[in-house]
Amino acid sequence: MAKYLDIRKDLERQRAAILEEAGGVLTNRPDVPAFPDVSDQASAEVDQNFSMRIRDRERKLLKKIDEALDRMNDATYGICEQCGATIPYKRLKARPVTTLCIACKTAQEEEERARR
Ligand SMILES: [Zn+2]
Repeated sequence: MAKYLDIRKDLERQRAAILEEAGGVLTNRPDVPAFPDVSDQASAEVDQNFSMRIRDRERKLLKKIDEALDRMNDATYGICEQCGATIPYKRLKARPVTTLCIACKTAQEEEERARR
């Protein structure tokens, strides 16, 4: 999937930025040993702090980024999941986590509007 190489880099950079922001407090603490002898309770606390630092919106985006990277790995990236059309590179570059071509996205939005 060499043609999506720079989009993959964009996704990985975005992913790293989200994780860094979320985990920065933990990884920047020099008093945390590499193999901490912590009780389950303490590590659960760390997990909770970590997930609390990732806001809901970021968690959703992170999931979309991971899914996009997965699709790159199994060579289904850039294919509309509705109609199977190839999504134009320009659209992928602008919105790398999209799974729909413009026609299907427009149809979906119209459907959502009609339902309201
Ligand atoms: Zn489509």
